Amino acid sequence: MSEPSIETADSGTAAAEATAAETTDFATAAFETLAVHAAEPRPAHGGSVVHPIYQGTVFETVPGQGYDELQYIRLNTNPSQEHLHRKLAALEGAETALATASGMAAITTTLLATLAAGDHLIAAGALYGGTHHFLTEQAPRLGWDVDFVDPEDRDSWTEALRPRTKAFFVETISNPLTRVADLVGIADFSREHGLTSIVDNTFATPVVFRPHTVGFDIVCHSATKALNGHSDLVAGVVTGSAEHLATIRHVLNLYGGSLDPHAGFLLARGLKTLALRVRQQGATSLALARFLEGREDIAQVNHPGLESHPDHERAAALFGGYYGSVFSFRPAGGVEAAEALLKGLRIPYVAPSLGGAESLVTRPAITSHAGMSAEERAAEGIHDDLVRFSTGIEAADDLIADFARALGD
Ligand SMILES: *Cc1c(COP(=O)(O)O)cnc(C)c1O
Repeated sequence: MSEPSIETADSGTAAAEATAAETTDFATAAFETLAVHAAEPRPAHGGSVVHPIYQGTVFETVPGQGYDELQYIRLNTNPSQEHLHRKLAALEGAETALATASGMAAITTTLLATLAAGDHLIAAGALYGGTHHFLTEQAPRLGWDVDFVDPEDRDSWTEALRPRTKAFFVETISNPLTRVADLVGIADFSREHGLTSIVDNTFATPVVFRPHTVGFDIVCHSATKALNGHSDLVAGVVTGSAEHLATIRHVLNLYGGSLDPHAGFLLARGLKTLALRVRQQGATSLALARFLEGREDIAQVNHPGLESHPDHERAAALFGGYYGSVFSFRPAGGVEAAEALLKGLRIPYVAPSLGGAESLVTRPAITSHAGMSAEERAAEGIHDDLVRFSTGIEAADDLIADFARALGD
């Protein structure tokens, strides 16, 4: 029996570098082109126009190789992982990227790499439930001090500053009220005060907004949402400078929240259609918000693309003409009307999460924000009758017709 032939060009760190060098430089290409072609090796591996899945855990060593260069799956140096990293970096416009086992792994690993016991973090008040829970429950165990501030009120940031303040954490678009923080102000403030600025860009995606362009140091994502876009995997992303990412990567390698290459392959596949999906979702979500706004049976609609939204001007200036897939609203008839609507809609599933092909509808008070007390929710403006809609890629006309029917038109 003959030995299976192993193509040396496809194994080892030197080969990974060669692959990177061969990748065509699409620096000036539009996002759609980047999404398809960035980081794809030319010539393609084995001629395959789709990057193969390297599922192997370990690769042959070469003389002189250090531990961190070892190609081992948890060290995030498997060629499929490296391919995904290059693609993600191109899409966020970052020097480097790292994929993680979940969005929470991206966020917690970034914070673990940034803060030591005794350090202080400034965080926006309205955060994803898991992040908020981590910062209130786990941060004290780690010896971190956290102050929650109003991401629109610079005075509250200045008041929060302490000698050991190390970082500022914010989300591009808040859930479920879709407030858009003073992102440029936060990036500038962080730079002025030597803080690491970290933004969770999950709700926007780089199609809507690329935070590194306004000076954010680190961008995190739950790739479980729109980046993958098909509601069928769990993954996270961190992007930033090579210097920042070297520290985060070191911490990820030790805490172990690395992404499995098979999930990474699915994510890389989802990324190719990111621009198409997010633009369609953005246009449809705005059409739905416009349909609902001003109706007698709808009391309030929160969509940053509406002129009535308190952050519309900022969002219009920062975002590329789309405002994400999520919006929220309050039926005039209160909780009963909200529940009736959830039961009446036929196209969306009643489920949390966002960014997939399917539209999803929920009442945050009993799902994503059930962990908060009724008083805390009311203080944030998350009323019991608030409905959150995550727009899928169905036709806008069909979704509008579904709403019209469910509302009894
Ligand atoms: C879902 C989500 C997360 C957490 O991501 P997982 O992939 O579920 O760990 C973090 N931030 C935001 C804004 C999210 O929507």
